[in-house]
Amino acid sequence: MPTGRCHCETVVYSFDGPVTDASCCHCRTCRRLCGSAFGAYGSVLASGFEWVRGAERVARYAPTARLTKAFCSACGSPLTTTHAREPGVVFLSLGSLDDASGITLLYHQFAASAAEWHRIGDSLPRHEDWPPE
Ligand SMILES: [Zn+2]
Ligand SMILES: [Zn+2]
Repeated sequence: MPTGRCHCETVVYSFDGPVTDASCCHCRTCRRLCGSAFGAYGSVLASGFEWVRGAERVARYAPTARLTKAFCSACGSPLTTTHAREPGVVFLSLGSLDDASGITLLYHQFAASAAEWHRIGDSLPRHEDWPPE
């Protein structure tokens, strides 16, 4: 079972099935929440997702009414994002994966709000805001 964890290894999660829709989000909310140039996420099925260690140390924050971010309360590593409109999906913070060798980024979203100091350096599709359905 593939796994991911926070930096201090208090929290470990596992998931079943492939990570799909791997992408970078350059919106201001993701930049602030990650303290970085962008957030990098991939989707897995919620039915196969499980906190296998440290579930009681997972802290949550809702940046909007529908979004919930889960992070380690000990080290602050961002771990997952869930959306009220997509209860069947868990968005993993790609940097938390233990083995990301199978991950291929597909696109950039909210490229129009990318950080002034960051240049997107690849040739992947860039969507100004959300990718088309
Ligand atoms: Zn931690
Ligand atoms: Zn974003």
